[in-house]
This record gives sequence, C-alpha cells and structure tokens, in this order.
Amino acid sequence: MSSPVRIQPDPSFVRELQAAGGESVKKCYQCATCSVACPLSPSENPYPRKEMVWAQWGLKDKLMNDIDVWLCHNCGTCSDLCPRGAKPADTLAAIRNMTYRKLVGPAIIGEWMSSSKGLPYLIGIPAVIFLLIWAITTGLSIPAGEIKFGKVYPGDYTIDPLFGAVFLFVCWSFYKGVTNMWKSFGALPTTFVIGDKTPKPNLVQAVITVLRDEIVTHRRFNECGKDNTERFKGHWAILFAFVALGVVTSIVAVSHWGSKVPGFGWLHVLGDTPMPLYSPVKLLAVAGTVAGFYGL
Ligand code: SF4
Ligand code: SF4
Repeated sequence: MSSPVRIQPDPSFVRELQAAGGESVKKCYQCATCSVACPLSPSENPYPRKEMVWAQWGLKDKLMNDIDVWLCHNCGTCSDLCPRGAKPADTLAAIRNMTYRKLVGPAIIGEWMSSSKGLPYLIGIPAVIFLLIWAITTGLSIPAGEIKFGKVYPGDYTIDPLFGAVFLFVCWSFYKGVTNMWKSFGALPTTFVIGDKTPKPNLVQAVITVLRDEIVTHRRFNECGKDNTERFKGHWAILFAFVALGVVTSIVAVSHWGSKVPGFGWLHVLGDTPMPLYSPVKLLAVAGTVAGFYGL
C-alpha cells in the first residue's frame, strides 16, 4: 500500500493569490479543458489544471517551485475556453508575480513592479532624485546660453554614479533571482526539456534552441493562441527596443569611461557624444526608440 500524503494548505496564500490577480481560482472544477487546449502544454506533464487545484488548496511550496508556470506564454487560450470562467491564465500570471516577489529582496520593489498601484512610486522616486540634482546644480533654473543637458546634469558626477549604482543593484538582483529560482527547481522529480523535444540536448543545443525559438524568432510565443499576430509584434518590438537601447548605453559608457584608462584612449571613437545623425550607434538608438513606442 502506498503511504498517505499529508497536505498542508496555506489559506492566507490563497487570499494573497486572489488579490494578486487569481480571484476566479475557486471556480475551477477540474475538467482539464485548459490543459488540453493549451498549445504549449506538454502531454507528459500538462498544465495549468494541476496548478489550479494546487492553488485552490493553497499549496504554496508546490506552486513556488513549479517550473511549468514559467513555460506559460500568457496567451489566454485556456481562459477563453474554460467553461467555468476560472481564468487559469490569470492565476498562472498571479503565481509568477508572487514568485518574483519572493525570489529576491527587497520585496517591496517586487510589489511595486507587479501592480499598477506601484507606478506612482516607480515614477516618483526617480523624478524626485532628478529634481534634487537640478536644484543642487542650477537651483531649478535653466542656464543661459546654448541649451545643454550636461549643464544641468553633469554626467560624470550625477547621472553616471546613479546609473552605475542602479546597474550594480540590477546585476546583483538578477544573479540572486536566477540562482534562487534554479535551486527551487531542484526539488522537482523530473527533467524538463524547454524548446524542441530533442532527446537529451546538451547545454549548447539547449541554449541555441532557447535563443532561436524563444528569443530571436519568438516562435513559441507566436504559436501560443489564435489571432496572436499583434501581440507577437508588440512583444518582439519591445524586446528589440530593450536590447538595442542596452547595447547603445553600454557602448557609450564603455567609450566614455574606458577611454579614461591609460592605454585605452582610442575607445572614445566608439561612442563620443554628441554623435552625428548618421552614426551607427545613433541609428541603433533611434531604431530602438521607435520599436519601443511601436511595441507599447
Ligand atoms: S481552469 Fe477551467 S478549464 Fe481548467 S480545469 Fe478548471 S474549470 Fe476546467
Ligand atoms: S495562457 Fe496560454 S500558454 Fe499559458 S497555460 Fe493558458 S493556454 Fe497555456
């Protein structure tokens, strides 16, 4: 005989999940239509039906360590076809939001990032910092003569140290978040294959598949749901915008600060500012900005 399994539900977790966007989770009656309808769910370990019952029971640890919630591309097909209006896509999104908050501190930033209520803080804090710098440099006035951003915000002493500190914080959060997430998957009993079902891909094949299918072509994103073209184009454009603007910022920073290192003065040719309009770096920045607005 198999031994009994003791389940320890967490009712406060269910309430938290409902507040985070999974308010319809209790309507689910486990028909499994969602798992059959999901275009990405693998037949050997389907989702999101099992996540719905775990969520109803408040099985927090199972959900927080569940790799399947990260394979969902939030197309909404399952919610469209659910006969009970239980909105499984929203429940998976709420689980992801809650997991973000617990992966790395400070938790308050995760809460701000996952709710529109946090927008005033996310916009207000940088705005106050910029106002303070402006007050210190020119007393909130516009300097006479040629209009130059650098007169109000001298890069080397105000913006760059600030951005540098934020960049280091983001790198640290990214590292901690990914390692914590990776450790949580270690509790799972099986091996999951992301991307093509190549039998036992090695690390290089797995990385190539993810880069090609998930990131560059967005193929799996595009396969998720009907009439997905607009959503696909918007998502791809935003991704391209972030990558392009990240590359431009890196080139300018490396050029500016790298050229101050003895022997590396030549780096300044890469990203000296102000740049001419035809500079490839400037053109990439313009393309990234246009893509960002288009995606939004
Ligand atoms: S979420 Fe809807 S479709 Fe999925 S098992 Fe529950 S009732 Fe069925
Ligand atoms: S939102 Fe789309 S990808 Fe996610 S579980 Fe539902 S059908 Fe599958």
